[in-house]
Amino acid sequence: MSTFQAPKGTYDLTPPDSAKFLAVREAIAAPLRDSGYGYIETPGFEDVELFARGVGESTDIVTKEMYTLTTKGGSQLALRPEGTASVLRAALEANLHKAGNLPVKLWYSGSYYRYERPQKGRYRHFSQVGAEAIGTEDPVLDAELIILADQAYRSLGLRQFRILLNSLGDKECRPVYREALQTFLRDLDLDEETRRRIEINPLRVLDDKRADVQKQLTDAPKLRDYLCDACRAYHEEVRALLTTAGVVFEDDEKLVRGLDYYTRTTFEFVHDGLGSQSAVGGGGRYDGLSEMIGGPALPSVGWALGVDRTVLALEAEGVELDLPVATSVYAVPLGDEARRVLFGVVTELRRAGIAADFAFGGRGLKGAMKSANRSGARYTLVAGERDLAEGVVQLKDMESGEQGPVPLADVAAELTKRLG
Ligand code: AMP
Repeated sequence: MSTFQAPKGTYDLTPPDSAKFLAVREAIAAPLRDSGYGYIETPGFEDVELFARGVGESTDIVTKEMYTLTTKGGSQLALRPEGTASVLRAALEANLHKAGNLPVKLWYSGSYYRYERPQKGRYRHFSQVGAEAIGTEDPVLDAELIILADQAYRSLGLRQFRILLNSLGDKECRPVYREALQTFLRDLDLDEETRRRIEINPLRVLDDKRADVQKQLTDAPKLRDYLCDACRAYHEEVRALLTTAGVVFEDDEKLVRGLDYYTRTTFEFVHDGLGSQSAVGGGGRYDGLSEMIGGPALPSVGWALGVDRTVLALEAEGVELDLPVATSVYAVPLGDEARRVLFGVVTELRRAGIAADFAFGGRGLKGAMKSANRSGARYTLVAGERDLAEGVVQLKDMESGEQGPVPLADVAAELTKRLG
């Protein structure tokens, strides 16, 4: 029988690399937790309509990339392609916006699914950590989120990332711009699909990566010139707050992002070591999304950072994370009696909060010491019949090579002292 493989466009996280993923998730979540964001978890699938309405009927995500399914009961569901629509849906359903102070600040971490053409950095199953601040229009909030993402990346040791910033305007000024852009685009030499896009989502055409398209866009009307006074003032405030915080950003008027719900502030974190899939994270303000999915007006802002690409960015920069050691103490028993006794010691150490592991399977000293080495443990405990008769175990410092007997009853206290 042939063996199975992970489905196309997916990969497994296995030790030791999986520890890096946990550390990245933790590093992104830590500043959020310290800034009043509460943890939220939503299902891996939702009503397909939530994404059609929330993410946008005309986006690639909805038209091409969603994993949809019909349940036996006849419900149309989709594996979640992104987090924001689900989080907002859940917040509305739980009436979090009525329960207390606004904004409702939430963070999440999980798996997302898009049927994309797989390549390095682009997968069909990927992992994001995200944050949403729901129900408040305040440039300080936009700045807070960008600053927290910057802080997370810096805490990981990343340096070669850039923050691209733009404003997409609001429901007053964007429609005026949209029309001006459409008029300009209709005169260009473009293929059928792009012509259709002009009518549904013209801003996305600006995002077209093809050189022959970009060449024609040089004189396209700029959103910047169409922003209303309120949007302009709001954007200036966000920029000033970031500058005051010492967060470096680049104005990028072409940044439109692939989702329909964004208004005003939009931003992307890009990493220069990643080739074509350079966006490591992104987000922005989505003042109209709540109403689009049947809720009240709740101006909101959020971002999602991709865990997979953040790990690739760390590798590209050659950053070695300072990962906690998995095992501090490794116990090697010689004989059956020693197995029982040392396993008891290991249990005691673990209960005292010391990471300890054990040479299972009754191997000989040589093989077991090899495992001890591989485990990365700072100390090994070795005990044979003679040691037990004397009521001691041999404690070996794997760094210095020093070894000596320690009374059985003192092992936990001695190791606690030595490991600080
Ligand atoms: P988006 O919702 O498309 O703005 O994505 C936010 C972040 O999620 C991106 O910057 C990537 O880091 C990550 N991401 C999105 N799609 C994929 C994918 N197919 N494979 C890996 N990471 C992804």
